[in-house]
Amino acid sequence: AVAGSRPAALSPAARADFDATVAALAQERALRRALAQDEFALFLQPIVRLATGRLAGFEALIRWHDPERGLVPPAAFIPAAEASGLIVAITAWVIGEIGRIVPPILQAGLQAPASVETSLFVSFNVTAQDLARSDIPGLIDAMLRRTGIAPGALKLEITESTLMQDPAGAAAALARCRAAGLGIAVDDFGTGYSSLSHLSALPITTLKVDRAFVRAMLAEPRDRRIVQTILRLAEEIGVAAVAEGIEGRAEAEALAAMGCALGQGYHFGRPMPQADALAAAAAWDALRWRCGPAELADSG
Ligand code: C2E
Ligand code: MG
Ligand code: MG
Ligand code: MG
Repeated sequence: AVAGSRPAALSPAARADFDATVAALAQERALRRALAQDEFALFLQPIVRLATGRLAGFEALIRWHDPERGLVPPAAFIPAAEASGLIVAITAWVIGEIGRIVPPILQAGLQAPASVETSLFVSFNVTAQDLARSDIPGLIDAMLRRTGIAPGALKLEITESTLMQDPAGAAAALARCRAAGLGIAVDDFGTGYSSLSHLSALPITTLKVDRAFVRAMLAEPRDRRIVQTILRLAEEIGVAAVAEGIEGRAEAEALAAMGCALGQGYHFGRPMPQADALAAAAAWDALRWRCGPAELADSG
């Protein structure tokens, strides 16, 4: 109906605007339908302890099973969801889904001898808009009560760039989540122009080294030094570090040698459906990813 009323005599620029508006409305309508008809899913990507190659946890990453387009990655709809404000409803769905999928994963990781560090965690992504516009701490609190999940098993991830747009606005909500026991990770760290004074005022527990530096670190000495500097910063302020985007064994080895505790990337595993993640959690004892020379002998 909207497209049918399109005026014939628009200038090219006005026509482009019009078309963009129609496309945005169609996208918004599709996202509302996706929520109503439960077309979203959380995939889980393993996060690995680089010193031992053991599973440490997972990051939950949203996917959209669009009946017309198939599996749609978040980059194709999260920006539109943020622009329309629908992100708040999507994040509420994410929190509910975390409550559903995390208990069996934690349960599967429990069969560990006390000598081995196996308390798994699951991290999930929220935006600055969520923190400013909806009661994220309240939603999480209700979910924790409903499910009995230990708050320490969950981490919020928020990108450095959005965090730094309104650090004061995010601070109160993050402080409540941290006080409730969740970890707080700054995502894509190194790309978002953090002010260090803002960083120190936020209740952060983890820095995630952006994958741009990890990808370039073997070829570019400067990127390697940036990674080293971020690892050093994390150590100095007493937070954990996760290197993102590890695609090869060489990066895993280099990062392990640099003392980076945790790593994530296609080298270890792609984001996977829940059933596969559950199988990985249940097999935590047999699973050893290759992160360094120590594993050479037994894994050929
Ligand atoms: P992110 O939080 O930084 O997540 C990591 C992204 O890097 C994921 O892309 C993951 O699939 C990808 N990745 C992981 N390892 C590798 C690797 O070795 N090489 C390469 N090239 N890529 C790797 P994905 O799932 O497409 O998500 C993109 C972004 O969308 C996420 O970046 C996050 O900012 C956002 N996002 C994902 N799920 C959610 C969600 O539930 N809510 C919100 N608000 N944002 C989400
Ligand atoms: Mg993330
Ligand atoms: Mg990231
Ligand atoms: Mg990212």
